[in-house]
Amino acid sequence: MNAIPPLLEVSGLKKHFPLRGGFFGGVSAHVYAVDGVDFSISKGETLSLVGESGCGKSTVGRALLRLIDPTAGEVKLDGNRIDNLPASQLRPLRRRMQVIFQDPFSSLNPRMRVREILAEPLTNFGLASGRSEIDDRVALLMDKVRLPRDSMRRHPHEFSGGQRQRIGIARALAPDPDIIICDEAVSALDVSVKAQIVNLMSDLQDELGMALLFISHDLAIVEHITHRVAVMYLGKIVELADRQTLFARSHHPYTRALLSAVPVPDPTIKRQRIILTGDVPSPINPPSGCRFHTRCPFAFDRCRTEEPVLREVSPSQISACHLTHAPGAEILPAGA
Ligand code: SF4
Repeated sequence: MNAIPPLLEVSGLKKHFPLRGGFFGGVSAHVYAVDGVDFSISKGETLSLVGESGCGKSTVGRALLRLIDPTAGEVKLDGNRIDNLPASQLRPLRRRMQVIFQDPFSSLNPRMRVREILAEPLTNFGLASGRSEIDDRVALLMDKVRLPRDSMRRHPHEFSGGQRQRIGIARALAPDPDIIICDEAVSALDVSVKAQIVNLMSDLQDELGMALLFISHDLAIVEHITHRVAVMYLGKIVELADRQTLFARSHHPYTRALLSAVPVPDPTIKRQRIILTGDVPSPINPPSGCRFHTRCPFAFDRCRTEEPVLREVSPSQISACHLTHAPGAEILPAGA
């Protein structure tokens, strides 16, 4: 599916959180937040990880960044394993992999001026020293995220939400990373500001060539920035395809349900909304067989007992569903 050698390779990634309970405080159960996830990202590519809240997508991001330790699986950066590095060897990784969080306000130190916020990664990683060099680098970062240079003397609370997210982007760019993990980076913003930030990220990627892992519950936003999309449900990837294929010919019933909720700009195109019944099951006790069978409108006997594996359904598309053909082709008109 990918001709360019991957920058990041993830295989069999699991994160199970133990739940303690009982009289002696032992482990009574596990939350299977991420339960065997495989994907890769090439240099300069954007892969989006999408799914409902609680599907494990943010946990994947945190495990890649080693903010939490994975339970199992391998993560390789440029072919070298990073999932098992001791804490003392994480420093170069921290420079190469940066993150942008959903809420820029809580991730920016309110007592620091923007200049200090942006200078911190530069000095921490030994990328600039001396007042004038740091000032020059900070000014360039302000230019990149299209904020006025003189606003570097202000504090985060003096900026709007969108401007604060630009500061978060500038901070992520400061150490010249190879990949940025954007964890719901635009979810808290107004619609028009969302579009501006997504366009900015896209322009910066064209200019600087970093890869992006774009974690989002919002397929409408993802469509504008991504090269490929991986859809997660209850800790597993259920479909992965390039953007065009996924939006035109998604295969998995869960993907089709998510897509049916995306507004279509052309009012002449009728899209049949698929309302999923029931809540997402608990990741403490996921359903047997296909994890989606409790909500899938196409479930049949086999789905309740046998777990579907990811298989190729078209040259740029894999899907984990027992159905051979995309269900309900009439649900989404091709190209909608
Ligand atoms: Fe639905 Fe069965 Fe496919 Fe799962 S395997 S998505 S339950 S049809």
